[in-house]
Amino acid sequence: MKHEISMREAISLHWWAVRQWWDVEPKLFLSTCAYTLAKHLSPYVTIWLSAQLINELAGTRDPERLKFWVLLTISLTAALQLLTAVLYHWRQAVHGAEWELENRMQTRKMLDMDFSTVESPETENLLHAMRKHMMGNLYGFVDIHGAFTESIVGGCASASGAAALTVSMFARPVTAGSLQWLNHPLAAAGVVVLLLGMTVLSLVLSAKASENSAQLWPCSNIYNRVLSYYPNFCGESRRAMDIRMYEQQKVVLPTMERAAMYRKGAPAIAILCGRVAPYTAAGRVVNAVLTGIVYVFVCLKAWGGAFGVGSVTQYVGAVTQLCGGLSEMLGTIGRLPFNAAYLRDIRAFLELPNHMYQGSLPTEKRDDREYEVEFRDVSFLYPGSESWALRHVNMKFKIGSRLAVVGMNGSGKTTFIKLLCRLYDPTEGQILLNGIDIRKYRYDDYLDVFAVVFQDFRLLALPLGQNIGASREYDRDRAEDCLKKAGFGQRLASMGSGLDTYLYKELDEAGVILSGGEAQKVAIARALYKNAPFLILDEPTAALDPLAEAEIYSKLNEIVGDKTAIYISHRLSSCVFCDEIAVFHNGTVIQQGTHEELLKNRYGKYYELWNAQAQYYT
Ligand code: ADP
Repeated sequence: MKHEISMREAISLHWWAVRQWWDVEPKLFLSTCAYTLAKHLSPYVTIWLSAQLINELAGTRDPERLKFWVLLTISLTAALQLLTAVLYHWRQAVHGAEWELENRMQTRKMLDMDFSTVESPETENLLHAMRKHMMGNLYGFVDIHGAFTESIVGGCASASGAAALTVSMFARPVTAGSLQWLNHPLAAAGVVVLLLGMTVLSLVLSAKASENSAQLWPCSNIYNRVLSYYPNFCGESRRAMDIRMYEQQKVVLPTMERAAMYRKGAPAIAILCGRVAPYTAAGRVVNAVLTGIVYVFVCLKAWGGAFGVGSVTQYVGAVTQLCGGLSEMLGTIGRLPFNAAYLRDIRAFLELPNHMYQGSLPTEKRDDREYEVEFRDVSFLYPGSESWALRHVNMKFKIGSRLAVVGMNGSGKTTFIKLLCRLYDPTEGQILLNGIDIRKYRYDDYLDVFAVVFQDFRLLALPLGQNIGASREYDRDRAEDCLKKAGFGQRLASMGSGLDTYLYKELDEAGVILSGGEAQKVAIARALYKNAPFLILDEPTAALDPLAEAEIYSKLNEIVGDKTAIYISHRLSSCVFCDEIAVFHNGTVIQQGTHEELLKNRYGKYYELWNAQAQYYT
């Protein structure tokens, strides 16, 4: 992915980010604008009031008018300070949720995207890039209002406040003869052009400083990688053992020191001091000259009798305030391309399209479970792959039957299940449910027909019962019953909080760590609880000890009941009881039949596999 981002693209990416946040929580934008307006406009009110006070003191000195200005200055300034403080806290309170909202936005996207997109290398790369940017970005996506919105709105507010307070400076004529040239429109135009010129110069310098700071990016890459790797690495208990055993701190700490970005003599220091600081300093000088020009112009006009000392305070104060606001705004604008790299990745991620066709047909809810599934000449290529994972697969499942899918590693068994569950769509051919292409059904409705225990299933760090019921509210009796059927009854009885026991320790210190076999039983119970017409078990007993395996198999018929069951298994002995066995080889179904039928073919793959494994069963 290219690194250079033009200013135009950067602005459009920031504008996109502001709109994203607007959709999520408009108060983020509103509170920022309200606070920024109060913060940037109130100094102008104070400057104007002070000018009136000084003018009165230097002029007629009317006690009544002086009293009026003093009271007005005190009360208005206090009210504005109070308003600014209240708005500040409102903004802080609203913005406190930003990080969590961004997390939720990303999680929702992950949950909503096509499975094939989750698995794609492009998504993996984007997630990696986002994580990298998060460590080293300026303000990224989260603080877009604190930086972008605030400086733009603040800059505009400063410009409007200053314009309102300084416009009269040009309108008031000088009376002294020698300075009358200051009244000429060209003199005013000259000052305005000079001010604009200096402002542009300041912008150019700030952009240059920012462009050069982009050179810090490659330095921060290795720094971030090392910094994000080692603290996590050293904190993992399994690795902490190795570290102590081999005194690896002797190599870890020096590696971290060498990668440090701001160590003495590091390239980052040279970039900051040699290529960033000179432009930043020059920008400051330009700003000082800009203020100086204003001082000279205002003082000359006052000297020529155009206005009194109070107005001098007003004009100088307003322009100084404006310079501060503008330089903050210009600084932020100059840094936009640097920050935009992160926004570009997060935008690409959030806008990853879903390609799968989403049908609208509801699936029939049949009490008789008369569902029929057919693979009709199905072939499948994984995205980006050139070899067929499945080729010309034809198969019909009989309702209520037990189908075993066997074959060597890589023969296409899991892919077959992934297509059946519509995690992918076939590249060629069709899969039909009750005679209708499964793409035409509503996706969530179609998934209701299946309960799958994947080989690499994952349980959530949540209470056991919520894992089983996949919900905060669930039928506790049914959950317990399913756990017992899956052979988890004894373990459940030993758990102090029963179904409310947390799994794993991430969210609860008292959470339990399950062994591989126990977790597999919970996963089986979760599938049973779903009570779907099709139950699919991918290597259902791989993590179980021989006793637990025998227990599950002895109860399998009871567990499965009237459901249609599909088992994927390496262990052919566990398939003997199935009504039908499909033998996969190189992505194709090469044999199908009962155990006895398949064994009769002494030249078939099944016979070969059976004999290869027979030594372990006898
Ligand atoms: P089995 O379950 O029989 O071990 P799989 O269905 O997992 O086999 O794999 C079938 C073929 O598809 C293998 O050649 C495997 O390398 C390939 N494959 C599996 N998953 C992916 C994937 N996500 N991307 C690309 N190829 C894959």
